[in-house]
Amino acid sequence: MHQLKTAIRLAICVGLIASAAIWVALSLGLLQSPAGYQAQHRVTVARYVSVVASSLINSKRDNQLQLAMEQFVASEPTLVSIGVRTARGTLLSAGPHEANWKVPVSYSSETSRSNRTATGIEQERTKQALEPNQVSAELLANGRYYGSIELAFKPEITNIWSMFFGFPVPLATFIGAFVSLVAWPIFERSFKYLDPSQVVPDRVRSALDTMAEGVVLLDMNNEIGHANEAFGQILDREPHSLLGTAIDDYVWTQSSDFGTRELPWSQALKERRPVCGVVVNLTLTDQPTRKFIVNATPIVSNQNECRGVLVSFEDVTAMENKKHELSQMISTLRQSRDEVERQNVKLNFLASYDQLTECLNRREFFKRLEKAWSDESTARLAIIMVDIDHFKNVNDTHGHGKGDEVLRDFGRLLRDFVGHDGTVARMGGEEFVIMLPHATTGPASRLAEKVRQAVCSNEISGLKITASMGVSSRELRPMDAQHLLDQADQALYTAKNNGRNRVVRYDERDAMDVSQAVEPAATTDEVPFESVDDQPEAVIREVEALLNLSTSLSAPTTRKAKIRSVRR
Ligand code: GH3
Ligand code: MG
Ligand code: MG
Repeated sequence: MHQLKTAIRLAICVGLIASAAIWVALSLGLLQSPAGYQAQHRVTVARYVSVVASSLINSKRDNQLQLAMEQFVASEPTLVSIGVRTARGTLLSAGPHEANWKVPVSYSSETSRSNRTATGIEQERTKQALEPNQVSAELLANGRYYGSIELAFKPEITNIWSMFFGFPVPLATFIGAFVSLVAWPIFERSFKYLDPSQVVPDRVRSALDTMAEGVVLLDMNNEIGHANEAFGQILDREPHSLLGTAIDDYVWTQSSDFGTRELPWSQALKERRPVCGVVVNLTLTDQPTRKFIVNATPIVSNQNECRGVLVSFEDVTAMENKKHELSQMISTLRQSRDEVERQNVKLNFLASYDQLTECLNRREFFKRLEKAWSDESTARLAIIMVDIDHFKNVNDTHGHGKGDEVLRDFGRLLRDFVGHDGTVARMGGEEFVIMLPHATTGPASRLAEKVRQAVCSNEISGLKITASMGVSSRELRPMDAQHLLDQADQALYTAKNNGRNRVVRYDERDAMDVSQAVEPAATTDEVPFESVDDQPEAVIREVEALLNLSTSLSAPTTRKAKIRSVRR
């Protein structure tokens, strides 16, 4: 339908051009105008009438003149009347001559075009101005002036409308119509080859229209040869109105996920290979940007020539938006999860470690001790109880802050010594415990001794301190983990009571002479921050405790009770 219309339109155009060419030719004088034809015709008629009249007069047949003139008026449709005006002034006429013949109004050197033509035939005697529709010629009888013959014609068509509706209009119309009718089938036939929509057969076109995806057929210049209904909807246009337009007239942008910025159909044409799965954005005026998955496949002829490219557009705007929202959600969730993990690590640390010394806390230590004890493979397991001597004096002398500093550095020193061989925990206050999962009493005691020497021979946080330690291990046959701890605790207790700054094994504590329970560190400069002499009350307390201890050693009591009694 569209092709037919186009063919008719073009045929009409060509017809109009042909008509216009006739008008141009007329205006350039290449064709004679209607007025020219009319004037020529009048001159011919006038010449003929005057010749006939002259011959009748010359042959003395004046009586036939009237009849001849009437026959002329009757036979020539442009003639209204004929009159023969003699030199004596008598008038012989045919038709309503008196009424039609206008007497010249004024003398003029100019004559009408018709008149001027007539004077070319007969010698003009008067130069009176005649009406445009009047022709006058002299009549001679035997060489002498006889009179004049006057011919009155129907009015000449001279107004503007006559130019359109007069003589050339039918001609121009005929030529225009003829050219149009001839051109129409030619154009229609040519369109079979030229109209891009004819590239796709009707059945294929209908099949493409049923597809939900937009499909376009592009030629080598990226111009649309066919667009299905879905593609028309994508661009909000009638599919046939897209034919012959360039697809690149629209704002297509390639998603940044793809390396190349070239649009898939251009790439497919250039590289002569299918380009599939490319996400392309389309931005139309006053509409939000939409996303399409585009597949472009080059169309190759039997002669292996690329003829164009078939492009499909799948609208994935909603899906891509959801994907985007989802990825944002996932990223937020990841951030939250990371934050939770960080917090968990923090919480675990806080739950398992002592904040001041960064050693394990008591609760976590017991967990690990129980685990190590229940592990059948851990045949060896040693415990070292460690207690800083006279730590209270540190606080009293240098303040609690300094005391914290000492505890922190002391904890680090223990960890450095133990390394990966064991675990260091803070049991509370200035009391620490070391668990050595693969050690027996001997190596554990040697390690404890090294630690002790390191403590007393170096300054910790700028202060000289000492520590007492009690050692026990699985080979000393404790009943359970708690008993193992108690054994080490009792050994520590013995170390405290035997002068501090020493290491006591549980299995050797009975060999210690309790009566020598003097505290060397307190009387020497091993405790530089405070001497016992400076603190008589402390000395009294210690002595009292030792006295109490000596009496209570025989009684089975726990080490805590004993210590409590010592400190009381
Ligand atoms: P001994 O040689 O018998 O172990 O004497 P000691 O002074 O070390 O023991 P005592 O039990 O008399 O005193 C322990 C002191 O440790 C008492 C307390 O003020 C101090 N202490 C406990 N925890 C902390 C702490 O976290 N920071 C500080 N600065 N001091 C602490
Ligand atoms: Mg202490
Ligand atoms: Mg203590």
